[in-house]
Amino acid sequence: MSLEVPYFDLKRQSSSLAPEIEEALRRVISEAAFSSGPFVAAFEQEFARHIGCRHVVCVNSGTSALHLALLAMQLPEGAEVITTPMSFVATCWGISYCGLKPVFVDIDPRTGLIDLERVAAAVTPRTRVLLPVHLYGNAVDPRRLREVADAHGLRVLEDAAQAHGTLHGGRHVGHSFASGAFSFYPGKSLGGYGEGGALVTDDDSTAAAARRLRDHGSSVRYHHEELGFNYRMDGIQAAVLSVKLRRLEEWILRRREIARQYDEAFRDLSLRLPVQADGARHSYHLYVIGTPARDALAEHLQQRGVGTARHYPVPLHLQKAYAFLGHKPGDFPHAERHAAECLSLPMFPEMTQQEISSVIGAVRSFHEQR
Ligand SMILES: *Cc1c(COP(=O)(O)O)cnc(C)c1O
Repeated sequence: MSLEVPYFDLKRQSSSLAPEIEEALRRVISEAAFSSGPFVAAFEQEFARHIGCRHVVCVNSGTSALHLALLAMQLPEGAEVITTPMSFVATCWGISYCGLKPVFVDIDPRTGLIDLERVAAAVTPRTRVLLPVHLYGNAVDPRRLREVADAHGLRVLEDAAQAHGTLHGGRHVGHSFASGAFSFYPGKSLGGYGEGGALVTDDDSTAAAARRLRDHGSSVRYHHEELGFNYRMDGIQAAVLSVKLRRLEEWILRRREIARQYDEAFRDLSLRLPVQADGARHSYHLYVIGTPARDALAEHLQQRGVGTARHYPVPLHLQKAYAFLGHKPGDFPHAERHAAECLSLPMFPEMTQQEISSVIGAVRSFHEQR
C-alpha cells in the first residue's frame, strides 16, 4: 500500500500556525479593524520591506491589483497590452476591464514563460504595455524585459501573483518596472484566509493613484475625485498575512528542496522538467512537468493515490471568454502544446519526506513499466 499524497493540503499549514493566527484574529476583532486600518497598514510596510520596494498597496485580490495597475497608467481606450497565452485567466481581466486589448505572444517552450524574442513582431502603433507573468514562481528576465520594453517604448506591469519569494539577480521580482501585482488567494505561496492582493511599485504617483482608486476614488473621506472602486483589503487578511510572511522564506526554501529532489529523481526520464531561468531563484509555487503522455501519467499517479493538477488546460487565446478576439487553434502552438502536456505534481512546504518519495516512486514506476 502506498501512501496517499494530496495534490495540495492547506489545512496542515493552518493547524501549525493556529495559535499565532488565532491571537492575530482576536486583535482584529477587539479593535474592530475589519476593512483597511492598522493591520493592513502594518502588513503593507512589512511586505514592502520583504520585497525591498517603496510602496505596497493592498487590495482585495490579485485581479484588482492588476486592474488598478493598468488604470493608474491612464492608457487610451483600445491600447494594446502584450501578454502570454499561458497563464491564469485573471492576467487578462484587468486589460479587458480597462477597455484595452490583450495581444498574445507565444511562450518559450523550454520555460513556459512569454518568449521576449517574439514581442517585436507583435508590437503595433497602439501597443503601450508589456504584461509578463512570472509563471509558477519562475522569473521572466528583467534585463531582457528592460531591453524589449525600451526598444518599443512600452511600460511593464509584472504579474507576480505566483512569484512570492521569486528573485532575479538577488532581487525580488515585481518592482523593477512601473508596477507589479501579487495575489494572496489562499492557495498561493503566501495566502490569506480569504481573498487578497497587492500592487507593488517604487513610483510615488502610481501608489497614490492605486490608494485612491481602491477606496472609492477618494483620499479624503466623502470627497471623491474620480470614479473609484471598493477594492480595499480586510483587516483579517492583513493580520493573517503578517503572521505568515514571517515564515515565507523558510517555506520557499522547503519548496526549493522538494523541487531539487524531484529534479534529481526525474533527470533520466523522458519528461520536460521545470527550467529555472538564468539568474533566477525559482520559488516553485508550482512544480509543472511536461509530457505527451500527460493524461496516462496523471491516471497512473491517481491510481497510486498521488494527486495532480493542470496549470493550465486551456490557453487564454482559446478561452470562450476571449473568443471575440478571433483566435483559433494553431495560433500559439507552444502554449497549446504546453496546455495539452502540463502536469502539476504535489508541491507544498508541509509535504513529508515519505510523501515526496511516494510521488517520486509513482512517477518513476510509470516510466519503468513502459
Ligand atoms: C492567482 C492569479 C491571479 C489573480 O489573483 P486573485 O487573487 O485570484 O484575483 C492573476 N494572475 C495569476 C498568474 C494568478 O495565478
